[in-house]
Amino acid sequence: MKNIQIIVSLDQTLIDLNKTIRNFENGNYKKWGLNPNLPIKKDDNETYKEAAKRFWEKSTWPKEARKLAFEIEKWWKKMGGKFAESLAKDLGVQEPSIYNVALIPFGPGGSYYPELSTVFIRITNFQNDHWWKRVLVHEIVHLLSVHHEALDHKENEKRVNELMKKKLMEFGLKDLM
Ligand SMILES: [Zn+2]
Repeated sequence: MKNIQIIVSLDQTLIDLNKTIRNFENGNYKKWGLNPNLPIKKDDNETYKEAAKRFWEKSTWPKEARKLAFEIEKWWKKMGGKFAESLAKDLGVQEPSIYNVALIPFGPGGSYYPELSTVFIRITNFQNDHWWKRVLVHEIVHLLSVHHEALDHKENEKRVNELMKKKLMEFGLKDLM
């Protein structure tokens, strides 16, 4: 089983925010039926990046996210890591030497960067365990099956959800479907 590294940092948040803003401005989220969480600008002169920084400094989000990181690590050792290992075996692919998981306050929900072995999970409710487990598993399926990626977004999500469903059933994790 491979290890997981949970990252809570403004840098990582800004990396993913760039992608979120790009997809937002070119109308992708509308097309995909997603409603991303964006930092709230205090006025028209503030950029999203500045608003994100301000949020990071003023809110308790980073502190709460660091606490949550321990929970996620625990679940990875118990369940998530085995899920990933088994899926990689099925797909005949190598797992990354470590899975990087960045927790972020913005974005559409989750995203993945195979070249960085990183997945991003948006956290808005620290009480909702079901949410992060589900997004983590979903993005790991994306990450490990990226060589089967379809060009069409909807088709690709359908493929990922089917893979995920099959594996969750096998692991007795039906509630995460
Ligand atoms: Zn997806």
